[in-house]
Amino acid sequence: MKIRNQLAVGILSFFGILSQSCVSSSEGDSKFDHYPVYEGNDLGVTVRNDSSIFKLWAPEAEQVRLNIYESWDSEKPEQIRYLVPTEKGVWSVGIPGELYGKFYTFNVYEDERWLDETPGIWAKAVGPNGKRAAIIDFSTTNPEGWADDKGPETKNINDAIIYEMHHRDFSMHESSGIENKGKFLALTEQGTKSPDGLSTGIDHLKELGVTHVHILPSYDYNSVDELDSANIQYNWGYDPQNYNAPEGSYSTNPMDPAARVREMKEMVKSLHDNGIGVIMDVVYNHTAENDNSNFSLTVPGYFYRHNEDGSYSDASGCGNETASERKMMSDFIVNSVKYWAEEYHIDGFRFDLMGIHDIETMNRVAKELKQINPSIIIYGEGWTAGSSPLEAEKRALKENVSKLQGVAVFSDDIRDAVKGHYSDAKDRGFATGKIGNEETVKIGIVGATSHPQVDYEKGNNSKFAYASSPLQVINYVSCHDDLTLTDKLNISMAGSDEKERQRAAKLAQTIVFTSQGTPFMFAGEEIFRDKKGVHNSYKSPDSINAIDWSLKEQNSDLLEYYKGLIELRKSHPAFRMTSSDDIAANIVFDEGDDGFISYSLKNNANGDEWDEIKVLLNGSDDVVETKIEQGDWIVIAEDGRINPKGMGRKRGGKISIPHRSATILARK
Ligand code: CA
Repeated sequence: MKIRNQLAVGILSFFGILSQSCVSSSEGDSKFDHYPVYEGNDLGVTVRNDSSIFKLWAPEAEQVRLNIYESWDSEKPEQIRYLVPTEKGVWSVGIPGELYGKFYTFNVYEDERWLDETPGIWAKAVGPNGKRAAIIDFSTTNPEGWADDKGPETKNINDAIIYEMHHRDFSMHESSGIENKGKFLALTEQGTKSPDGLSTGIDHLKELGVTHVHILPSYDYNSVDELDSANIQYNWGYDPQNYNAPEGSYSTNPMDPAARVREMKEMVKSLHDNGIGVIMDVVYNHTAENDNSNFSLTVPGYFYRHNEDGSYSDASGCGNETASERKMMSDFIVNSVKYWAEEYHIDGFRFDLMGIHDIETMNRVAKELKQINPSIIIYGEGWTAGSSPLEAEKRALKENVSKLQGVAVFSDDIRDAVKGHYSDAKDRGFATGKIGNEETVKIGIVGATSHPQVDYEKGNNSKFAYASSPLQVINYVSCHDDLTLTDKLNISMAGSDEKERQRAAKLAQTIVFTSQGTPFMFAGEEIFRDKKGVHNSYKSPDSINAIDWSLKEQNSDLLEYYKGLIELRKSHPAFRMTSSDDIAANIVFDEGDDGFISYSLKNNANGDEWDEIKVLLNGSDDVVETKIEQGDWIVIAEDGRINPKGMGRKRGGKISIPHRSATILARK
């Protein structure tokens, strides 16, 4: 802990902090609880009435300096101004004129030294590599028709079908036929084709039928040099730098701070015009830098959790973790997502390592976002990558999801049970013929809610029904992390041919798309995209990560199956029940067997036109013979084919389910 000089104590007293707490060096983090809280929404720069007002919340600072630059690369500031302390820890200075086109940074002086320059934590536009904040006129960044722009209406989160993508993965490959490869603008191009003449880009998304695109981190991150576009640089972007400005390497001109803003908005507008929502992956749980992050250069220590010895605690596995239980960090997260929702019309947020954040903050996030737009959806990873000093019961962990309102968590239960454990490449799951995963798959089918026929004691990962509603669970078998589904099948089913592996892929996704909860898929798996067996491709080159669109022609049968699954789910509310009571009342499991699960969705569940839907899942290597009630059954899916409108009839009685496949039947 730092010892402050008399000047510091004086200024801190001005801000209303108990000087006793400021000079204490032995009470750990508790001193931060005495910092004043500023609730204004004008930190950073505000241009109005022909003046530019700069504000920085820095309650510990002894002095704060503003550097105004002519351009992003001018060596020396053209103006240096000193801010004055005002209220609640905020320093401020007003400069006559609208300084559009200029750049700025702050320096904070404390403990007898000037800290490095920082754009602050509320920079909404930045120059190359996010080093300097930029003053731009946001009204000039709106695409035509922006005032009327609106994302799709999503009544409940489980009406969404989420498609997770990285900008470069989706468009970099030559076969994409897309001009603005790896850029926000890639998703504004219509009519793009693969070499086989099949649609790519946004047209492909429409053809597939997904409702939301989940884009990997798209705020300004640290690892890609935005001024070195000649070299191939790839990163997932889980190394946040400026949370409230878009990443420059995804714009066509990182040197123009308005270009990334405008182009990201054009991307959102284009997706909205095609009926698709945009979900942002947000990583408030840690920053790329420790002492040199914008948080640390503004208010050292405050925004992070620490170990008892004063070192950074590291639940993120990336060197630090933020402290959402502190009011100004909590407010930062809430105000930041609100800003993206309002300024960029973002339709949803996926919280990286959400288990680091406290429950109260996540509930505020959901409540305040829903006030802006009730269709906004929120979900996150209900776990951490290391231990945290904040008590587990306070954190937004999977096991605490019932305490969250309007926030869902990923189900690692269904993920690992269907395809095999993520950390063991060779491990198989239900869809690849490994016995013993049946009960955990059933946990997935009922959306991790309580069900009289599901025995959580037998669950592989969770031992209790953690979700109080199916709206709290995201179902998936693959995402950007770990092996792609294709690679997982290639490795765990080594020795079998591709036809067999695609049977398993179809069965795995049938489970995801027919289960209660919200389905989530990884871009390109619908055309059997792989990543050459690289499980952590966060900085692998495009040759690993880019989707080869010639696979679309090659794997058209698989794609048709995905399209059928999506159409089935969208047209039948029985797969989208909204309460655990409905699930307990309407899902009835039949007697199963090793590698075989059979259940019915009954009673025109959730207003479905079908009285009963029977889902029979055979993950085993052999045909399963079973019996179903006599009746006029429409065949929806059988032996690796699917048609939501039906493909023939069955009268019931004895039926055979081919190996590694799903049969879906329905009757009115
Ligand atoms: Ca960047």
